[in-house]
Parts: sequence; C-alpha cells; structure tokens
Amino acid sequence: MSDPEITLARNYQVGAAGRLALDTLPLTGSCTTFAVQEGHPTLPEYVADSASTATAWATGMKTSNGRLSTAPGSDRDLKTILEIAQAKGFRAGLVTTADLTDATPAALASHVNSRECRGPSEMAECPKRKKSAGGKGSIAEQEVDHQVDVLLGGGKARFDQVLDGGPHVGKTVIQSARAQGYAVVTDAAGLRAARPGAKLLGLFASGNMSLEWGGEPALTYPGSGPQRCRQGIRPANEPSLAEMTKKAIEWLGAGGGGRGRGFFLQVEGGSIDKRGHASNPCEQIGETIAFDDAVRVSLDYARSHPDTLVVVTGDHAHTSQIVSPPDAKDHSPGALSTLVTSEGAKMIVNYATNLPGRSQDHTGAQVWIAAQGPQAANVAGVTDQTDLFHTLARALGAE
Ligand SMILES: [Zn+2]
Repeated sequence: MSDPEITLARNYQVGAAGRLALDTLPLTGSCTTFAVQEGHPTLPEYVADSASTATAWATGMKTSNGRLSTAPGSDRDLKTILEIAQAKGFRAGLVTTADLTDATPAALASHVNSRECRGPSEMAECPKRKKSAGGKGSIAEQEVDHQVDVLLGGGKARFDQVLDGGPHVGKTVIQSARAQGYAVVTDAAGLRAARPGAKLLGLFASGNMSLEWGGEPALTYPGSGPQRCRQGIRPANEPSLAEMTKKAIEWLGAGGGGRGRGFFLQVEGGSIDKRGHASNPCEQIGETIAFDDAVRVSLDYARSHPDTLVVVTGDHAHTSQIVSPPDAKDHSPGALSTLVTSEGAKMIVNYATNLPGRSQDHTGAQVWIAAQGPQAANVAGVTDQTDLFHTLARALGAE
C-alpha cells in the first residue's frame, strides 16, 4: 500500500479533498523498502517482496526476497519484535485478511528460509526446518508454537495439514493448537461469541479471505468501465478486518493469564497487494477501505488508551497509477479502467508493470508511514523499514 493505492481509495470513497482515517495520523514520513541479494548481502535488491520487507521491520535486519526472519547466506534466525514483546510480558496478536501463513504475519512469528513453507506438507524448500528433521516446522506450526495470543485470518488449509514430527506428530496444526490451549473459531458468529480467555485461533477461509468489493478488472485501451464498484460483497459468515481488529484488541486488552502489561498487535489488509497484482481497481480499493476501517478501530482504542503507539504503513510500493483520460493516440500500453468516484468524477486507473492480463509487479519506490502515540515522532522524515523495528522496540521499553 503505497501513495497511489491510498490516493485511489481516498478519491473513490471520500473524494479528493476528503480524508480517510489513516490520513488523520499526525506524524508522517517516507520509508525505504529495498531488500538485499541472497548471494551478495551488501548489494541491494531495489524491488522487494512482502517477506523481506516484513522481516526488515520485524527484526531490524535486511534479508533477501522470500526469506522470513532469517539472514541471507547464513540462514541464521533473526529475533522478531513479537518475540521481544512476549519476552517483556506483552501479549501478542496477528490479524490479516490473507492466509495467516502469508509473509507479513509469518515474519513476526516464524523463521524459515522460504515463504513457501506454509504448512507441514509444504516443506519442499525448507527440508532442514521440518519437525521430522529436528527443525521448528512450517510457518503454521511456528505461529501456533509461538503462543501468539490471537491469530485471526484465512489459511485454514495450511492448519489442516498433519505434523510430521514433534510432540504432536500425526495431529493437524489445528489439533496441535487446541492441545496448546487455543480456542478455535471458523466463522464470524464464532468470533463474535468468543470471550477473552487464553488464546484464540480464527481461520475464516481456506486460503485468502473473501473480498469486500467487486468490479471489472482493468483492460487494454480503451480499458474497462466507466464503472462504479459493487460494495459489500463479503459473505456474512466471514468477519471484516475491522471486526477482527476489534476482537483482537478486546482479547489482548483484557490481559488474561496474568499478562496484563499491554500488547503488540499487527493488522494487515493483505489483499490490497493481491488485487493490485490482479489489475482490479475496485477489489483493490475495497480492501484499502476495509483496512482504513480497521485503522479507525485502532484509533478509537488509542483515544481512550493514549499510551498506545499506532503505526500505519505499507510493506512495499505497488503498480497502480492514476492517469489522464486516454485517447486513441495517447494511452498507456498497460491495462486501464475508468471508475466513477463517489463525487461523480471519472478516475482512470492504470496497471502497467507487466503485460496486461499478467500478474503486475511490485515497485521499488519508498512508502508512506504514519504514527501517533509514544515514539511516533521517529517515523518523521525519511527512514528505512529497519528503523521501524527500533521505534517499536522503544515503545515496548526494549531499547
Ligand atoms: Zn505482492
């Protein structure tokens, strides 16, 4: 979620002069997001993926694309801010609309050499990390074994896989979670009924969770549209990101288990990126607005708990652009869509970092970062994602 994705959502939903919830954070800056090369860790990889970028802010260390909280070359585990928070007595939560084993939540609560090693039957790229080989297991196993107090998102298919080693060999990851004290819910009603207790695992979809909005994908000139997006298409049995965020804060803030010191919570609008890859502006904007609703929930909490640091940012820049109306002579060679915004104007969205119809690419530009609360001033100016680790560590009293 970089500046174009934010601007698209603002223009469409609240108008060019309107303001989203995330626009109200008082301290802002720019954050560099480059990764490093696996074989040459002193050389930058200018276009990063979500694994290296999440690792950067989760651990304060740069790594190569595809790695999760492990060092390039040496494959050494890198300590994460979630682990530091837990060691200091804070509770911890991970919330996403993506698969819970996707890169952002995974970087905080697992250490693997490849982001593809999501469940115990998907360990082809991480043979040494398999539990049967004496390792810590897949991302799903490690997230549960990390005793993260609240895990909410999609990706049930990974957690239905069967462990190949360790004390719970032969059980599924969900069964292993139950044996470790997790309550497990699989739909919105179950989430609503869940009352703060020990630990909560919510798996609301087999893979990524359903989208909030629908619409036509962008196409080559003259493009799709003019269109208005179809809002509110998420099935009622899946919670919204805002609902998951609210429950996570309620659960973590209750301070169960005698660990009432406070909490660390990561909330990801995971499909803003995915629908950008798919060149679908309505789907992308719907996910951005859903993320903004979750930001509003966190700001509401911070209003009555002013000792809360809230940070909002993206992991890397992306492909979408707002362009001038195309004509037969002058138009992008990429995919275009004309949206009619809530203020009644036409907004042309362009995707051109890959051939039309192909998965669009991330870009290497710096991303926006904003914050309020203790240590928030550290995000001002130009910082790197590794600096965010130290900002969070200071807010937790760990530096
Ligand atoms: Zn992506």
